[in-house]
This record gives sequence, C-alpha cells and structure tokens, in this order.
Amino acid sequence: DNFDDMHLENTLLRGIYSYGFERPSKIQQRGIMPMIEGRDMIAQAQSGTGKTATYTIALLQNIDTSFRVPQGLILTPTRELAQQVQKVVLAIGDYLDIDCHVCIGGTQVKQGGGGPGASVPPPRWSGSCHIVSGTPGRVLDLIQRQILRTDAIHCIVLDEADSLLSRGFKEQVRGILQEVPSQAQVTLFSATMPVEVHDMAKHFMKDPIRILV
Ligand code: AMP
Repeated sequence: DNFDDMHLENTLLRGIYSYGFERPSKIQQRGIMPMIEGRDMIAQAQSGTGKTATYTIALLQNIDTSFRVPQGLILTPTRELAQQVQKVVLAIGDYLDIDCHVCIGGTQVKQGGGGPGASVPPPRWSGSCHIVSGTPGRVLDLIQRQILRTDAIHCIVLDEADSLLSRGFKEQVRGILQEVPSQAQVTLFSATMPVEVHDMAKHFMKDPIRILV
C-alpha cells in the first residue's frame, strides 16, 4: 500500500507526491494496478474515495506522450466535473508534458452580432491531445465531425456512470462506445449500480474486475 510499489514512471510518481498524496487510498490500492494492466473495471465508489486519482494515475501511466492523439477518454455527466478532472490530470501529470483537452457543450461564444467588447470565439480545436475529458453530447459531436479521432483511444472511463446513464445521455454514451476501438479498455466508476449500469457493463465490458469501496 505504497505508490512506490506500483511500478509507476518516475515522472508520474513525482507528480503524485507533488500533488500532496502520500499513500494510496483503498480504491487506489485495489484499482490502479489492474487498470494499468488493461483490465476492464467496475468500481462502486462514492466521491471522496479517491476515484478520480485512481483512473488518472492509471491513464497517465499508459499514455505515450510522444504521440499527440487522444489515447484516453473520460466521460462525465457535467461540464464542471469534466473541467475538474482535467485539472487533476494536468496536476498529477505535471512532469509528463501531458495535454488534456476538455470537450464540453456551451463554451463556444457565438460569432457575429458583437459590438464593442464582444468575445472572440476560441480557435477551432485541432483534435490534438493525449487525454479528453468531456460530456457525452459534445464528445459524440466532435467524433461525428471527425475532429476527435478515436482510433488510438485505448482506455475509456465512465465517471459517475449512474448519472451518465440516467440523464438522457445513455444513447450518446452508447454512440461513443460504438465509435471507439472494440478492444479498448472500459472502466466505470459509480456510486450506485442501477440496471442501466449493469446493462452497459454487459454489452461493452470484457470480464471486468469489480471493486467495492
Ligand atoms: P474523489 O473521490 O476523486 O472525489 O477525491 C476526493 C478527495 O480526496 C480529493 O480532494 C483528492 O484530492 C483526495 N485524494 C484522493 N486520493 C488521495 C490520496 N491518496 N491521498 C490524499 N488525498 C487524496
């Protein structure tokens, strides 16, 4: 029960300690190594257990930073959570030269009609990054417009999966899962395990490891 024993890259380990973590939490002790090994995973965990760092550390260990295309995809039910997750990825990955892009709806400022002081829309995203953190609608839209490449995605995280699959996001999440390589690892973190979550697991996961904390 020590981060030193997890065979992590030194730069990643440095990021973890700099972030202020000393010892892995329960879910981190049980989840990080199997996730790094590529296992699909269903983790039943509330907020506050350290679930975000669990998947963040595993993702960061498995990213090839020399290859600037999306390799990991984190889906969250809210924009705020997507942004929070990006912050954690960038902070723990501080020594890794990691690029994590947030894909959320409602951030694009409309063009035209702008008087003095009107906001300039952000430049169109090229699709370049290592990890995407986003909400299902925007992520699916970017995939369909072929801005977000999926061919190199080898790990998908469904965070707060119970909310993700209950808010009318279900079809979008399914759509995304159908667009990523079928051999990609699928991991799911959820406070509760409603039938939608079990269904998703049955259809899209291979022999998942189950963790309850
Ligand atoms: P989460 O469950 O991801 O919402 O995380 C809950 C809080 O626990 C966050 O503020 C984390 O920064 C913190 N945390 C996660 N893992 C650890 C750890 N191993 N040591 C200390 N704090 C942690």
